Amino acid sequence: MALIVQKYGGTSVGSVERIQTVAQRIHRTVQQGNTVVVVVSAMGKTTDTLVSLAQEITANPSRREMDMLLSTGEQVTIALMTMALQEIGQAAISLTGAQVGIVTEAEHSRARILSIKPDRIKRHLDKAEVVVVAGFQGISSVEDLEITTLGRGGSDTSAVALAASLKASFCEIYTDVPGILTTDPRLVPEARLMEEITCDEMLELASLGAKVLHPRAVEIARNYGVPLVVRSSWSEAPGTRVISPIPKPRSLEGLELTKAVDGVEFDRDQAKIALLRVPDHPGIAARLFGEIAHQQVDVDLIIQSIHEGNSNDIAFTVIKNVLSKAEAVAEAIAPALRSTPSNVTEAEVMVETGVAKISIAGAGMIGRPGIAAKMFKTLAQANINIEMISTSEVKVSCVVAKEDGDRAIAVLCEAFNVQLSPNPVATNAVAMSPPVRGVALDMKQAQIAIRHVKDKPGMAASIFGVLADNNISVDTIIQSQRCRILAGMPTRDIAFTVAQGEVEAACTALNRLADGFDEVIVDDDIAKVSIVGAGMVGQPGVAAKFFTALAQEKINIKMIATSEIKISCVVPKEEGVKALKAVHHGFELAGIETVEVPA
Ligand code: ASP
Ligand code: MG
Repeated sequence: MALIVQKYGGTSVGSVERIQTVAQRIHRTVQQGNTVVVVVSAMGKTTDTLVSLAQEITANPSRREMDMLLSTGEQVTIALMTMALQEIGQAAISLTGAQVGIVTEAEHSRARILSIKPDRIKRHLDKAEVVVVAGFQGISSVEDLEITTLGRGGSDTSAVALAASLKASFCEIYTDVPGILTTDPRLVPEARLMEEITCDEMLELASLGAKVLHPRAVEIARNYGVPLVVRSSWSEAPGTRVISPIPKPRSLEGLELTKAVDGVEFDRDQAKIALLRVPDHPGIAARLFGEIAHQQVDVDLIIQSIHEGNSNDIAFTVIKNVLSKAEAVAEAIAPALRSTPSNVTEAEVMVETGVAKISIAGAGMIGRPGIAAKMFKTLAQANINIEMISTSEVKVSCVVAKEDGDRAIAVLCEAFNVQLSPNPVATNAVAMSPPVRGVALDMKQAQIAIRHVKDKPGMAASIFGVLADNNISVDTIIQSQRCRILAGMPTRDIAFTVAQGEVEAACTALNRLADGFDEVIVDDDIAKVSIVGAGMVGQPGVAAKFFTALAQEKINIKMIATSEIKISCVVPKEEGVKALKAVHHGFELAGIETVEVPA
């Protein structure tokens, strides 16, 4: 007999009929001998409707009153669902977040869960009742017992947190899609249902999967090892398992990490190779990394920043003992690139061995401005220069001089109050992952490039600091390789992407800074295509295959950024969907049957 937490999303409980259908399913699960806790969302679009009601009254509702308002949605569902269960003879009781003791921070509209007191739930379960809990809400522990909400999509987080604190056998997230798909099926009809995905991959795919599964829920599942399944409310199909390696034992107090960063990672055995002034046209990255893969050399970070004139710089890191091989390939290919007609300047290879990579990692940084800025500032205060930057959803990596490594570790661990973690991917028990699990497309971003930023400690810190102060979330950040001497001072370009809606605010903020760089250039004609897979670690050729798929479609790459398990390319916007299809096809992710997805 298992203890199961089942969560039903808004569409699954969108009408009385659907609530009745779901009640049948819950009842069946109990009859099969299981103990069931149910977590529900507000019915259908209720939360959106409540938000618009508030907006009719004020453009600036207080966050406290918004929580008071929005938390009513789930309360409707728990009562109706419990009535539907009782009506078919299933003993059940509804409870609010406060009644089950979901204690959160006193942060209205985005509270994190601190702890859950499962005693009351257990008492009802012992009486063979199904407990139906309102998702998305909690109560602050201060004496005033304020109602809080966890942020949009937060019922997933309620469900997984309950599963963790009840030590449930597993947690099922029921939704209106069959599970997690290899890409967006509205753009690529051949998208296939994944049988499984690791939590780390799921977090890096946040832009693809966040609507299906709240990233904070994934983080809890990973930290507490809660077996998680995403499946359809309308079929018996098994859905997608979201898996994690067995976690370190961890206290249930402070359940959701209030920290944005949960580890500092360090890799000291790296060497950096840069190809300067290669032609800016389709196929160059494919050719370079194709040759490198051919030599069975695994590359780690890859960065291509904004182009200048008609040439690009591509830089990458490899582990030191394959450096000579990688360098030979780069040297051999450089003359060939030079002879390309469109290339007016000379390509050049640059190698640097004394480098180390230091990263901060944590799902808490998703949607929280200022984490990267804090890292850059911390390094700057320790007078450590950053040579390369590359970021993904849940990681910021910087390449620094090797002799600065130990100091970098010390100051970052202190600043973020965390410990140095063993490289998580290398120690990952989930070793069987395919190199690429899924492909995501993000068309809602714009690229901002800052030209000729003085290459001295503190510049990245002040740029991203001012953005964070203005509450602007930055996505992919890269710092280019090209170094230009202007007025005796070396300068580099820094580029990053932000949501399109935040471009103006970002430019205003940056222009106010107006010192230490030359100009800010906006390109909102971009799309970002990303591949994610834990199996790409240590496997040569994955990047090459990605770039080749784009080259075959003659799609030019504007920017490249990577983390261990993710590679992202910025491409021209009008090529976004074509790029997504080509890459999905290139990695043979297409399914045999198309997946039915309701509109
Ligand atoms: N009802 C809330 C929302 O729409 C929470 C949820 O459904 O997960 O954001
Ligand atoms: Mg949801």
